[in-house]
Amino acid sequence: MNDEDLNNKTVSIKTLGCKLNFAESATIEQHLAMQGFTIVHGDSCADVYIINTCAVTETAERKCRQMINHLHILNPAAKIVLVGCYSALEQAQTLISEVDMILGSHNKMQILKSIRNLFDSPSSPLADADEDEDSFFSSYSLHERTRSFLKIQDGCDYHCSYCTVCIARGKSRSDSIEHVIDNARKIVAGGIKEIVLSGVNIGDFKVNRQPAFLHLLQQLVQVDGLERIRISSIEPDLLSDEIIGFAAEHKQILPHFHIPLQSGNNRILALMRRRYQRELFARKASYIKQLMPHACIAADVITGFPTETEEDFMDTCHFIADTPVNMLHVFPYSRRPHTIAAAMEGQVEQAVKNKRTKLLISLSDSKKKQFYAQHQGQCFSALIEHKKENGCLFGFTENYIKVKVDARLHLEGQIITARLMDTDADGIYNIKIV
Ligand code: SF4
Repeated sequence: MNDEDLNNKTVSIKTLGCKLNFAESATIEQHLAMQGFTIVHGDSCADVYIINTCAVTETAERKCRQMINHLHILNPAAKIVLVGCYSALEQAQTLISEVDMILGSHNKMQILKSIRNLFDSPSSPLADADEDEDSFFSSYSLHERTRSFLKIQDGCDYHCSYCTVCIARGKSRSDSIEHVIDNARKIVAGGIKEIVLSGVNIGDFKVNRQPAFLHLLQQLVQVDGLERIRISSIEPDLLSDEIIGFAAEHKQILPHFHIPLQSGNNRILALMRRRYQRELFARKASYIKQLMPHACIAADVITGFPTETEEDFMDTCHFIADTPVNMLHVFPYSRRPHTIAAAMEGQVEQAVKNKRTKLLISLSDSKKKQFYAQHQGQCFSALIEHKKENGCLFGFTENYIKVKVDARLHLEGQIITARLMDTDADGIYNIKIV
C-alpha cells in the first residue's frame, strides 16, 4: 500500500487506565496525524482502532474486552490494534482471535510501521515480538488545554508482590533532563500553565543510574512561563526530605502530594514487598505538613490483600485516622495472574474486600471534608479548566481543592486568586475572585 492510500485511512485511539496512558495516546495521535492519517474521536467509524490498554486490575481487563466488542459493532471491517500494559501480558494472547495486532508496551513508537504492516501483509503475525526493553517513549498530553501530563519515567524495578505494571512496562528507565525541559517548553509555548510529572515510579527518575528527581525539579522551576508543576504519585521511600524542602521553597511546585501507602499494617506491607514501614510514611506526611501546613496529601490504599485480617484492616484505619492524610484512593485487592500475591494462601473474600473498601471511602470522605473546612475563607490560586457543566467552570487550587465559577466569566485556562466561600451539595467550593 502506498503512502497516499495509507493517508486516506482514519484512526481512532481509545485509552484505558492512567494519565500516563493518556499522555502516550496523545503523542501517538500527534505522530499519526503528522504522517497524514485522519484522527477521529468518540464513536466515529474508523479504519483502524488502537486500544491503549491497562492491566492494573481485573476491571481494566474487562473494559478492554468490552471495548473490543463495541468497536466490532461500530465498524466490523475495522482493524483493531492493542497496545499498552495489558497487551504486554501473557493473558492478552487470549484476545488474539478478536483483534488484528497485539503490540507490547515497549515499542509504541513502532505503531506507524505496525499499521502499515496490517494493510500490506494481512497474513503477518498478530503479535509483534520485536520488543526493545530499553526504549523510552517520550510523551505528553495536550488534550485538556489547561494542564499537560508530561511523562518523565517509565517501568518499575520495585516488583511489589501484587503488581503487574512492573511486568507489563518493564524495567525502570527515564527520559533525559534536556528532553524533559524541551518538552516542558513546548507545553508552555502551547499556552498550558500546569504540568503533571508522570511515570510509573517518578521518584526513581535517574540520570546515569543516579537518583536525579530533585535535580530535575531544580531545572524545571527555571522554565520560563511554567507556572505550576504537580508531582503526582511518588513512593514514600523516594520522597526525600530535600524534595519536600525544595517544594516548600518554590511556589511553582504545588503543595499536593500523592503518596501510595497501600496498607497501614507493617506485616501486610512486608507481604506486599513495599520498601518502607508505616512509620516512614507517617514521618514524611508530618514533615510535609510541618513545612506546608496547607498541603494536600492523598494516599492509595489496597483493601483485602491476602491474609489481611479484620484486626490488620482496623490497624490501617486507625493509622490513617491519626496521620495527616487528606484523601484516599481506595482499591480492593485484585488478584493478578503471574504475581506472587496471586499464589498466596489466605485470599480474602470479595464481599469482605468490598465492605472494607466502603469503610475506607467513608473515612476518606470525612478527612476530605475536614481538609476543605480548614481552608474556608482563605485565598489560593486556582487554575480554571475548560469543561463546562450547568453554567459553571471548575478548577483546582494549588492544594487540590475543587472550586467552581460562573462560566460567563470566561476564565478558561486562567489562574485566578480565589477566596473559598462555601461548599455546594457536591462539596465543591463557591469562590470570590480577589
Ligand atoms: S512501585 Fe510497586 S505498585 Fe508501583 S508500579 Fe512499581 S511494582 Fe507496581
